[in-house]
Amino acid sequence: MSDGLRIRLDRTLCDGFGICAKHAPEYFSLDDWGYASLIGDGTVAEKDRDAVMRALLDCPVHAIIAVGTSRPSDDGTAHPDARPEATEPEPRNDSDAVAEFVR
Ligand code: SF4
Repeated sequence: MSDGLRIRLDRTLCDGFGICAKHAPEYFSLDDWGYASLIGDGTVAEKDRDAVMRALLDCPVHAIIAVGTSRPSDDGTAHPDARPEATEPEPRNDSDAVAEFVR
C-alpha cells in the first residue's frame, strides 16, 4: 500500500507560469501576478494524484516538490524513499599513508 503523495511548493522558484493551477486548481491558487500558492498542507488525495503529478512534472522551474514520508510501510519495512544513514568514513591514520608511500 502507498503512503500517499505529499508536495510542497518553493515559492522562491515559482516564475508565475500558472501551469500548476491549470492542472490541479484544488491544490494551487495564483495571486494577481500569477505566482502560485499551495492550498492545504500538501497532502494529495489519491484521486488527485495524476493531476498533481502532472502539475509537478510540467512546472518549468521545478518549484513543486514531492515530499517523501518517513512512515514505514504497512508491512513494517522501510519506506522505499528512505535512504540508509550515511556512515562516517573510518578515521584515517596519516602514518599509514606515509608507511604506504615509503614501501
Ligand atoms: S507551474 Fe511552477 S512556475 Fe508556474 S505557477 Fe505553478 S509553481 Fe509557479
